[in-house]
Amino acid sequence: MTKEEIQALRNEPWREELRKKMSPKDRGAIERVKMPELTPEYRVTTFTEEVQQGLTKEMAMTEAQRCLDCADPSCMKGCPVGINIPTFVKHIEKGEFAEAIQTIKKTSSLPAVCGRVCPQEKQCEGQCIKLKMKQKAVAIGYLERFAADYERESGKMQVPACAPKNGKKVCVVGSGPSGLAFAADMIKFGYDVTVFEALHEIGGVLKYGIPEFRLPNSVVEAEIDTLRKMGVNFQADVIVGKTVSYEQLHEMGFDGIFVGSGAGLPRFMNIPGENAIGVMSSNEYLTRINLMGAGRGQGFDTPVLKGKNVVVCGGGNTAMDSARTAKRMGAETVTLVYRRGLDELPARAEEVHHAMEEGIDFHVLHNPIEYHTDENGRVCEAVLQVMELGEPDASGRRSPVPVEGKTETIPADLVIVAIGVSPNPIIPSNFKGLEISKKGTIVVGEETMQSAVKDVFAGGDIVRGGATVILAMGDGRRAAANMHEYLSKK
Ligand code: FAD
Ligand code: SF4
Repeated sequence: MTKEEIQALRNEPWREELRKKMSPKDRGAIERVKMPELTPEYRVTTFTEEVQQGLTKEMAMTEAQRCLDCADPSCMKGCPVGINIPTFVKHIEKGEFAEAIQTIKKTSSLPAVCGRVCPQEKQCEGQCIKLKMKQKAVAIGYLERFAADYERESGKMQVPACAPKNGKKVCVVGSGPSGLAFAADMIKFGYDVTVFEALHEIGGVLKYGIPEFRLPNSVVEAEIDTLRKMGVNFQADVIVGKTVSYEQLHEMGFDGIFVGSGAGLPRFMNIPGENAIGVMSSNEYLTRINLMGAGRGQGFDTPVLKGKNVVVCGGGNTAMDSARTAKRMGAETVTLVYRRGLDELPARAEEVHHAMEEGIDFHVLHNPIEYHTDENGRVCEAVLQVMELGEPDASGRRSPVPVEGKTETIPADLVIVAIGVSPNPIIPSNFKGLEISKKGTIVVGEETMQSAVKDVFAGGDIVRGGATVILAMGDGRRAAANMHEYLSKK
């Protein structure tokens, strides 16, 4: 949106009236809302019940009153898909929930997802002007989730309007957030859109990675269903580059291809004992449990190892999800081993807080260097190097430095390695002519998302090498705008 469009909406009489109705001082006096949550004791007994229960209508309307409706809304600069935040928040303040979700859906195709999993404290909320006034930021994420849930639960989900068909066909490789955001915009522009997904379920990490206690599958499915109603064709169990080649996609009549194949390749530390039974990647662990139902009772055939003393290596969202899942799988102790300090943890602040409440033991400033095995070849101990913080590194965070000669050995009969992921190599190694970086990501124009093969655009983790849902969606939207421009000129 242009500055003028944002301003025009802000100048509408109903917005001026709301501003006059309550002074900034009174708005500042309202405490930030606390979202109701299941108790830690209860929630570690359930995989599918969401920890955070959502805001009531009254809570949402009161929280919306905290927003000052700034002349220059800095929060919008922190949102990678450019949601008109003050407009949707002010609709909630007025009780106009349908208008609120319409505003969000103009630029975001997955509001119920983003409202739950975006690291808002680093994005929109991190830019809220109230922080400069020593007040807590407006709970923008909670309000976004409220608007999306209200619409879904009312059973009246709106299907965004699409332009008449323009006769052109495009396809998407991968059904994660980048692919879904791309598909949503292209179908609106009038293209025929097919999404190919290698797995048997649509949704990418939203389904196979993020557990249901944080993001229920029914919520993801409802948003995918809206895309289906808009006309997007989803084809599961198709590995592009293996089942169908680049050339065959052209024979099928696709004029453009968007690659959103993610970063699903696990990374390991290459330390002694890492090949032992009972050491596995977080991808494998979470996919078995989230997607295949392993260990979740009758009706699921997929096995998964259970541990009494589980060690999780890493400090990101994947590590938090693995640790909290292990707790729900009945582990007696779950120790999260992270080589930097608590302040450096890259996971969302809320997930860290919830993990601590659930009894995860945070063993920070430690790094695994070796695993010992028992007589059956199963891991039984983790040897940890004690670390300290040194000078800041390229990421700006203080780098972890080993404390010479200081180690600690802890019991571990299951180790989950969640130290990061690498780009999925199938498209980079099967589409000829792509420029591939040293890290294995597809190189694209920063603004255009166009690759060295002109009809192939890419975005999300396959380009960034592991980022966030909303950055992936932002890429998908930029790629759609630029592919539309490119194909319109052809
Ligand atoms: P993905 O979501 O990875 O989807 C890619 C899809 O492409 C997959 O379904 C894959 O099967 C498919 N695919 C791959 N190759 C092919 C092929 N050749 N043919 C067909 N299909 C193919 N981010 C947040 O913002 N907040 C969080 O709380 C958060 N938590 C996370 C928790 C976990 C456990 C993980 C793993 C990640 C988390 N992230 C989080 C990161 C976020 O989920 C990713 O950045 C995001 O999903 C990337 O989206 P994407 O569209 O690029 O790819
Ligand atoms: Fe409201 Fe904060 Fe955005 Fe200002 S910066 S419009 S107070 S959410």
